[in-house]
Amino acid sequence: MEKKEFLYEGKAKKMYRTDDHALLLVEFKDDATAFDGEKKDQLTDKGILNNRLSEIFFSFLEKKGVKTHYVKRLSEREMLVKALEIIPIEVIVRNIAAGSISKRLGIPEGMALKKTVLEFSLKNDDLHDPMINHYHIYALDLAKPEEMAVIEKTALKINELLQPYLKEKGIVLVDFKLEFGRHKGEVILGDEISPDTCRFWDSGSGEKLDKDRFRRDMGGVIEAYREVLRRLEGGT
Ligand code: ADP
Ligand code: UDP
Repeated sequence: MEKKEFLYEGKAKKMYRTDDHALLLVEFKDDATAFDGEKKDQLTDKGILNNRLSEIFFSFLEKKGVKTHYVKRLSEREMLVKALEIIPIEVIVRNIAAGSISKRLGIPEGMALKKTVLEFSLKNDDLHDPMINHYHIYALDLAKPEEMAVIEKTALKINELLQPYLKEKGIVLVDFKLEFGRHKGEVILGDEISPDTCRFWDSGSGEKLDKDRFRRDMGGVIEAYREVLRRLEGGT
């Protein structure tokens, strides 16, 4: 597989064309950002860890019948994926209150939600990813009702699969963000699944093992990402 021209870049990844027009090469960067890019840093090896962690999550989900853009990991920082027409909606799944839902609704962090919450945000940093609902989605033609049905069903299925998988590794899946896109007439999962896009808490101590350590200046960010990888690779 040949790496061709640079296509575009987000806050955490660079995308390149390949000699196959249906496939893209993702390069995971060490850049860490928070608060829509206001807070920035370089975290040595973050890209390597998120590439490997995304590989583990995508492979697990594929094995369980979830369609994803994942093809294979090519190197420490590079992953081959199916080229998607990304649907500009961030799909957030929440099991426990944390972060923006706690602020918005005045509920304490750590409160278990009686029912899984699905939220949608418009993927637009300039507008700070505003929350939207189905009416906005259809009014702006961001996705069709049939596509939203697939997205919601898949997001909830991913939650049902990842929760027990992580629990076994001593990790509570608090919340996470997914992105979906169109590929050959189908809507499939794209982007990444990593401690950048999920909240992971240690089951015993409640210690944060995710990007909140960076957002909240807690230190030990990379150590926490490494710990998640260690547990997923079968460590105890
Ligand atoms: P952001 O700063 O928007 O979060 P990232 O650096 O995480 O961006 O990712 C780069 C961009 O690649 C994002 O806009 C994301 O939606 C997009 N992307 C992810 N997976 C795919 C894919 N399979 N095909 C096309 N674009 C993708
Ligand atoms: N998230 C993400 N990208 C975003 C916004 C949120 O990956 O642009 C993830 C975040 O890591 C967390 C979940 O989505 O796991 C819910 O985030 P929340 O809405 O609480 O946002 P924040 O606390 O970052 O304001």
